[in-house]
Amino acid sequence: MEQVIAHILAELKKVDDPPDGSSPEVVLRVGPLAVHSEAATRQAYEILVLGTPLARFRLNLTIEPVTLTCGKCSYQGALPEGAVDPHDLSPLVECPRCGAVSPVQGGRGVSGIELRWE
Ligand SMILES: [Zn+2]
Repeated sequence: MEQVIAHILAELKKVDDPPDGSSPEVVLRVGPLAVHSEAATRQAYEILVLGTPLARFRLNLTIEPVTLTCGKCSYQGALPEGAVDPHDLSPLVECPRCGAVSPVQGGRGVSGIELRWE
């Protein structure tokens, strides 16, 4: 999370300051395997941005679903929350259609950061 905040702060330096009276927002999209939970991520964010220009930004956090692409039957779909153990380094899940065990793709790291205000 520290790296993410450092990255956002670096991005913020490249753009003009949000005008007074605006309600700036930081849009953050992360994979579910990158974070413990949405609440923990929000909490970490709020602590890390204290005293930085980001403190006045509202966090718009989206946890993106992990998707499964089955190599056997070509099933493609998002997995429900909790289907994958974030501590598992190479998580495998059963395909809901054919039952084949497939490695989970993605879900780690930050997939999008956007700064915006009116
Ligand atoms: Zn399948």
